[in-house]
This record gives sequence, C-alpha cells and structure tokens, in this order.
Amino acid sequence: ATPIPTATPVTGQKVIYLTFDDGPGIYTKPLLELLDKYNVKATFFVCGTGYAHLIEDIYKAGHTIGMHCKYHDYNKVYASEEAYFEDLYAIQDIIFKYTGTRPTLLRFPGGSSNTVSSFNPGIMSRLTKLVEDKGFSYFDWNVSSGDTSTKDTETITQNLIKGTTGMRYAISLQHSEIKEYSLNAIEGYILWALENGYTFATLTPDSPKSHHRINN
Ligand code: ZN
Repeated sequence: ATPIPTATPVTGQKVIYLTFDDGPGIYTKPLLELLDKYNVKATFFVCGTGYAHLIEDIYKAGHTIGMHCKYHDYNKVYASEEAYFEDLYAIQDIIFKYTGTRPTLLRFPGGSSNTVSSFNPGIMSRLTKLVEDKGFSYFDWNVSSGDTSTKDTETITQNLIKGTTGMRYAISLQHSEIKEYSLNAIEGYILWALENGYTFATLTPDSPKSHHRINN
C-alpha cells in the first residue's frame, strides 16, 4: 500500500494554515477524521451552532479553537461596539464550557474588510483597534476557497491550489463543517500541498494575520 503522507513540520518549510469558519456542523466529524488521516492540525473559528458540543472533539483532536461569533447575524453583531463584544464574550463562554480555555484568536464575521456592516459607518475601523487593545488577535485570510460562491468540489480545490501557489504562507478560508462540497475539496488540497513542500500549522497570536484593508 502507498504510505499516507503526513504533515511533519520542518524549519523553513512553507506553511498552510487551514481555517474553518461557521461550524461546528454536521460535517465536523468527517472533517476531523480527514485531518487526522494526514496528521494535519487546523484552526476552527467557531459559532454558537446547534453542534457546539463538538467544540470539545475539535479541541481534544489537537486543533486550535478561535472565536467567530455566537450568532451569525450581521445586523445584530455590528449594531454597536457593545453588541459586538457581547456576542464575542458569549462565544468565548461557550468555548470555555467545552475546552476549559478562553481563546484570544478571532475572525470577524465577514472578515475585517466586510461591507455588510456599512449600516453602521466606521464600526470595523473601531472594532479592529478595540479588539487588539483588549489583547485579542484577529485573523483574515489570503487564500479563499470560494466555497460561498460555488458548490463544485473540484473548483474549490483548484481555488485553494491556485491561491496558494507561490505563497510562503497561506491562510485558507473554508466552510467545510457546514458544506459537504467544501469538505470534499480538502483532501486534494492537502495532497497537493504535501507534494509541493508545504506543511500545516495552527494559528497562534504570533502567526501572520493577513489583515485585509478596512472598508468600513
Ligand atoms: Zn462566518
């Protein structure tokens, strides 16, 4: 049998930070199995979904848990700074309940460059400063899977590969815990990455953050 390649880090190697937003969901368990098959660790920016208890499984499997939001409702989350932090601390409490730890990593709903918050002018400019003042680290991405605009697995795999080609590090964005076609795109990306000299790592406060330009 062909041995399965594993993601053992080597100093100086090119790095991919897989990130998964909006879960946990119905595909969290197969996603964890797939990542485990290749010994790949990833970062999960979680929400207060009906599958939130799976945060414990993700954490125990050695992945990193970051905060996304309790409620993925732009109008509520970006209604005010107070509303944003109320939601952020609510998802932090949920994560604490299942892991015993309080994460400091976060990803804004829609990313820091979102314009869905434009009903509240300037709020992203204010929030991006405020979260850092409070000791949090926010992460955007520099490789988009496009899994919000296509349901075609092969297209998603190719988007990830094209986006990563030539990059020293990649922070990829996927929604594989809630979208089967995105889950199915990962294995091809992992195999391509391992063949092309990349390894995989989880985000820490010291990782590159790929901050986007603020549009609001
Ligand atoms: Zn999201």
